[in-house]
Amino acid sequence: MTAKFKANSNLSLTQRYNPLELETEVRAFWEKNKTLKTLAETRQKNNVGMLGYVEGPPTMNGIPHVGHARGRVIKDFHYRFKTMQNYYISFWAGWDTQGLPVELEVEKTLGAKNKKELIARVGEEAFVEECKKSIMKYHREWVTGDKMLGLFIDHDKAYYTHEDRYIEREWHYLKRAWEQNLLGEGHYVVAYCPHCQTSLSNAEVGLGYKEVEDPSMHFKFQVRGKEKEFFIVWTTMPFTLITDLIIGVNPKEDYAKVKVGIETWILAKQRVEPIMEILEIEDYKIVETVKGTELVGTKYEYPFNDLIPKQAELDQHPLIHTAVAEDFVDVTTATGIVHLAPANGEDDYSAAQKRELTMFAPFDEQAFFTEEAGKFAGHFVRKTDSMVVEELENRGLLLKIDKVKHEYPTCWRSHHKLVWMARREYFIWTNKINKKVMQAAQTVKYFYESPKNRFFSFLKEGKPWCISRDRIWGSPLPIWVCEECGKKTLVTTKQELREKALELPDNFELHKPWIDRVILKCQKCGGKMSREPFVLDVWHNSGASPYARFSDQEFNTLVPTNFLTEAVDQTRGWANSLLLEHVILTGKPEAPYEEFLFQGFVLDAKGRKMSKSLGNVLEINSLLHEKSADISRFYFLWKCSPIDSMNFNPNELKGRPYQVLSTLYHLHNFFMQNAGYDNFNPKKHTLNWATKQNNLKDPDKWLLSKLQGLVKEFTEKAEECEFNFALSKLEDYVVNVLSREYVPMIRKDLWSDDPETLNRRLAVYSTLWYTLKRLVLLSNPTTPFISETLYQTVYKQLDDSLLETVNLETWPTPDKNLQDDTLEETFEILLKTLPIVYSARQNSQLKRRWPLAKVVVIAPKNIQKAIQKLEPLFLELANIKAVEYVDKLPEVDSEKWAVAYEDETHVLLDKVRNETLEGEGLMRDLARRVQTLRKEIGFSPTDIVEAVYIAELEPKDIKLLNPYIPEMEGLVRAKKVQVTENRVELDAEWHEDKLDKKKVFMAVT
Ligand SMILES: [Zn+2]
Ligand SMILES: [Zn+2]
Repeated sequence: MTAKFKANSNLSLTQRYNPLELETEVRAFWEKNKTLKTLAETRQKNNVGMLGYVEGPPTMNGIPHVGHARGRVIKDFHYRFKTMQNYYISFWAGWDTQGLPVELEVEKTLGAKNKKELIARVGEEAFVEECKKSIMKYHREWVTGDKMLGLFIDHDKAYYTHEDRYIEREWHYLKRAWEQNLLGEGHYVVAYCPHCQTSLSNAEVGLGYKEVEDPSMHFKFQVRGKEKEFFIVWTTMPFTLITDLIIGVNPKEDYAKVKVGIETWILAKQRVEPIMEILEIEDYKIVETVKGTELVGTKYEYPFNDLIPKQAELDQHPLIHTAVAEDFVDVTTATGIVHLAPANGEDDYSAAQKRELTMFAPFDEQAFFTEEAGKFAGHFVRKTDSMVVEELENRGLLLKIDKVKHEYPTCWRSHHKLVWMARREYFIWTNKINKKVMQAAQTVKYFYESPKNRFFSFLKEGKPWCISRDRIWGSPLPIWVCEECGKKTLVTTKQELREKALELPDNFELHKPWIDRVILKCQKCGGKMSREPFVLDVWHNSGASPYARFSDQEFNTLVPTNFLTEAVDQTRGWANSLLLEHVILTGKPEAPYEEFLFQGFVLDAKGRKMSKSLGNVLEINSLLHEKSADISRFYFLWKCSPIDSMNFNPNELKGRPYQVLSTLYHLHNFFMQNAGYDNFNPKKHTLNWATKQNNLKDPDKWLLSKLQGLVKEFTEKAEECEFNFALSKLEDYVVNVLSREYVPMIRKDLWSDDPETLNRRLAVYSTLWYTLKRLVLLSNPTTPFISETLYQTVYKQLDDSLLETVNLETWPTPDKNLQDDTLEETFEILLKTLPIVYSARQNSQLKRRWPLAKVVVIAPKNIQKAIQKLEPLFLELANIKAVEYVDKLPEVDSEKWAVAYEDETHVLLDKVRNETLEGEGLMRDLARRVQTLRKEIGFSPTDIVEAVYIAELEPKDIKLLNPYIPEMEGLVRAKKVQVTENRVELDAEWHEDKLDKKKVFMAVT
C-alpha cells in the first residue's frame, strides 16, 4: 500500500523500506536536479563563513575499497553537516596521479622485470602515455564509487597532480625553499630500494618494517702492532665491511680484555658472558677492564687493504681505521663495538662527518660496486655478503656465521630490503626549520590524543627531506645546471623556460622525457644548461595541493583550510608534507589546516589487514551493488570511534544499522497513514497551534523535551568527531524513545476517528511532524539517501513551500522552551516502573492485552509521586483499572497476587480476571482492528457506517462481547455491530485478521 499523499517525483514512500531501490532513485533525483551544484552555489552566495577544504588525493593505482570508504564517508558527513550550518566549503575532489605507485602499476601491466628493461623496450614517451591511461582507468572507478556512496564532492572542480598548471604552482614551493636557502644538493645516506631503483624518504622508510632474515656474523679486527689482540664485532650486513672506515665504542662504558687461548679479545664487559656462550667458548678469563674512552684512537688492521687499493690509500689517514667514541653505541646488545661504514649508514655517516673524514662510496646509482671497490667491483652491494664472509674466513678473522631474524625496513611498495647508501640527492633542509614546524603543528586541533602524539613524535625527528627521486612519472625537479661553469638555476614556470631556452621541443609538457630536452642558456657564462635528471618525491607533489590546487585568490580566502581527515598513516605522509611545505611557503609557523582527524584503518571481519594476497579486500563498487550505501555509511560512523581500527563485517549491516533506518522509515509510514486520514496540514496545525488549543499532553511534551537534548548532544558529538556517540544517541531516540515508548502512549488517541477528538489527533501529528523532521535533518549527514526520500515524500508532499532538497535545510538547534527536565525525570520513573508490571504479568502468564482490576505499587515517595502525576497514562499502558500506593511491602498471598520488583520498587497485580474485564479486553482488540480496516477501505473520520460484521468467533467470546456491543458501536462509528460464529452472505468483502493466533473475519458496509 502506498501512502495517501502520492509523490510527484519518482520518489515514493512505500510500505516496505527497500534501501537499494530508494538509493537508485535518489541518485537519479540528485543527478536530474543538479542538487550538488545547487547546494554549493546557494551556500557560496549566502553563508555564515567560508571553510577551506583541500582533498587528500587518493593515488590512482587501484580500485577504491572499504578502507577508503570510511574516510570518504567522514569527509562527506562533515561537508553536509557544515553546509547545513550554512557554511560554504570548497569540497572539491583531487587525485594523486604521479609517482612510484602509478609507475609500479604500469610496470605490472606491461610485464616488466625491472625498470631498465622496460624503458629499453618501450621508451620513456610510451611509458608516460601508459601512466596517463592507467590513472584515467582508476579515476573512473573512483568517481563511480563516490556516486555510489553518495558523496557530494565536486568532481568537476577536481585537481590532478600531473597537470602542468598544478606542477608550476608546486614549483613555487621550491622557489620559496630556494630563496630561504633550504633547498640544496647533498651527499647523504638515504634508504634505497634496489627493486624500485629509487631512494625513499624517511616517511616512506617508516611504512615498511618487516621481519626478515639476514646473516649474523661475528668477526675480529686485529689491533695494529699487537698480533694476538683483537676487537670483536658483530654485523648483519657483511657487505658494509667494504666501506668500513672506523669502529665505534661507547665512551662511558666498561670494556674487557679477555684471554681466549693465546689471544686477547676486546669487547663490552657486560657482553662477555653472552658472546662466549654464542661462540661456544668455555675457557676464557677477563684480564683487564678499560673505559671506552681509553680505546679511542687505537688503530686496527683493515683486513682488505690488499683487495681494495683505495682502502689501502685511505688507511694512511691517522683517524681512518681507528676506534672512535660515540654515545649511540649500545653495549647491551651484540659486542658493544660497532664497525662504521659512513657510505652505508646514517649514524655512521654523521660520525664520519663530525670528524671530517672523506666519503668512500664506491657504488653507482643502481647500487652496484664500482671500480674503486677493487675485487668487489661489478657486484650488486648485497650480493657481496658471501664474498666478504669467505675473505674473512680465509684470513682467520671469522668467528661465527649464522642467520638472524629481525625487524628491518623494507620497501613499502615492493617489500624488498632497503640498503642505505650515500648518494647525490636534493634536499629540503627541513631540519633547519624544525622549531617553526613544531610551533605550526601545535596550533592544530587533532580531536584525539593518541594520533596527535604519534604525529608529534614523528615531526620531532626533524630530519632533512630528501625530495629527489630517480624515476620518470613525476613532477620534474626544476633545476638546471650549467655544463661549463656549474651555475644552477631554479625555474618556476613554462613561460620562464621559453624565455631562457636555447633548445625547446615543440608542445612540451612538464614531464620527462620532454622536459629533459629543454636546454637553457647560462646567465653567467652563456653555456648550455641541462636539467638535473630527478623527479620530485610524490609526497612533495601532493603536499603542494593547498597552493597548487587553488588560484591565488582562492588560496588567500580558503587556506589555512578548516577540517581535513585522512588515515593515521598520513602522520608520516600527507599531513607531514602539507605542514612542511606550508611553513616553507609562508615562512611562518603556520599550519595549512586548522583541524586534522586521523582515522584508524579498516580491517576485515576477523581483524586482519585487507590485502590482495589474503583475498579479503572489499571493493566499494561491488559491495554497494548488494548493500545499501546509507546502511554502510551509518555502520562506518556508528560502529566505533573514528580513530580505532574497525573490523568491517558486511553481515553486521543487516543488524542494528538496518533496524535503526528501517524504524525511522516506518515511523514516517505510520505518521503519513494517520495524518493523511485526518487531513493534517503542517502549515496550520503547528506546535504553537496545538499548544494554544491546549492539546499537547505529557507524552508529547516529554518527547519534544527529549528531542532538544538529542539535538544538543548530537551536534556536540559531531563537532568533536565522536560520530559513534552521536549516532548511538540518535539510535536510542529513534528505536527506544520514539518507536518503543512514545508511539504506544499515543496510539489510543489515534485509534479513535471521532471528529470531537480530531484536534487531539492533529496535535499528535504536529508533534510527530516536528520531531520526525528534525530526525531526518540530523540523519542527513550520515544517511543522505533515506533523508532525501523522506524529505521529498513526506515533508515536501505536505508542505510545498519547503526547499528543493533536504541538503538546503538548516541544521536544527535546541529550543529551550520545549525543554522540561522535571517532566523527563518523571517519565524516566514511569518507564522504569512499567517493565516491573510487565514482568509481574509474565510471571503469572497474564497477557498484556488483558485488562486487570488493580495494581499495588510499593515504592519510595518520589516514585509514588511520579506515578501519581502520570497515573492515567500509567494505568493505560499497564492496562489496569486502578492503582493503590503503599510504603511498605505487606504479607502477600501469591494465589491472589502476581509479584515482581526491581531495586526499591515492588508491584502486586490482582490476578483475578472476571468476565467483565475479559469482555472489555476482547472488545477493544476487535475495535482497534475495525478502526484500521475503516481507514484502509477509505471511510473518512466523520462517516458513520451502516454495519460492522465480525465472524468466526467462539460462542464463549460472543457471550463475553455481548454486554459491550453498544460501546463498540460508538468506538467504530457504526449504526450496528454484529458478532457471529459463521460468515454470512454480504454485499461487502470479508477481511481476514488474526486474534490470539485465531483467524477472525471482519466486514464493513
Ligand atoms: Zn621497492
Ligand atoms: Zn655557466
